[in-house]
Amino acid sequence: MIVIKITAVVVALIVVYFVTKRAARLANRRRLLAAALPDEYTRIIERNVPLYTRLPDSLKRQFGGLINVFLAEKHFEGCGGLEITDEIKVTIAAQACVLLLNRKTRYFPKLRTILVYPHTYVAKTVSSEGGLVAEGRSVRLGESWQSGPVVLAWDSITGGTSNGADAQNVVIHEFAHQLDQENGDADGAPILGNRSRYRAWAQVLSAEYEALQKRKETRSRSVMDKYGATDPAEFFAVATETFFEKSGQMRKNHPELYEELKDYYKLDPAEWT
Ligand SMILES: [Zn+2]
Repeated sequence: MIVIKITAVVVALIVVYFVTKRAARLANRRRLLAAALPDEYTRIIERNVPLYTRLPDSLKRQFGGLINVFLAEKHFEGCGGLEITDEIKVTIAAQACVLLLNRKTRYFPKLRTILVYPHTYVAKTVSSEGGLVAEGRSVRLGESWQSGPVVLAWDSITGGTSNGADAQNVVIHEFAHQLDQENGDADGAPILGNRSRYRAWAQVLSAEYEALQKRKETRSRSVMDKYGATDPAEFFAVATETFFEKSGQMRKNHPELYEELKDYYKLDPAEWT
């Protein structure tokens, strides 16, 4: 009897601990979301993230709050001798947080650590198992693990962000994989909410994916990078890059795909000036 009572007390204490911890985390998020982004961070974003200059003013306050939360909750680690600076952290956080705007978000819940290499790196092992999505065969621009880190090469980030209209953005690409991986393996279908949404999503994205594969086979011109023809997960990541960086062209050439992504991201970047 005494053992049962002690067990009940221990269980109650554990529950109280986790409830208190969660409440503290939510309160901290609310505080960070409401806080303005430090001016020096805004200057880094203005310098390094061209997408920011297109962002409507009405979204900028929310954007700053999301970046505050991201920087507080995610750990950055330099690899290959790279020293992590505010510039690296803020440049990555800002692009990742574009994907969180206007949505009910869990802030990439499976992600704790972002590993950053100075240059595109040669991976020691190449695996398609264990929830890993890796880019660029053995020479990597970035990786996204389902229950582990995002790995990025700083030179591929600065290369990709210097032009905000080429649909080549490795940070947006890898964090799109993170969204895709929230509900399991990367399969090109992130959490869409309502069950009925999946049918329309599958119809539109499957048709567009097959069309991209055909354009790749016939070497036809394409708004989307043909790397998206690799598999449905890559298609979603590449479509996301295109949605944000070639918004007008995507809306014109792939209106149904644009509408699906607009509905998912709750944003209409083709309307941004
Ligand atoms: Zn990818």
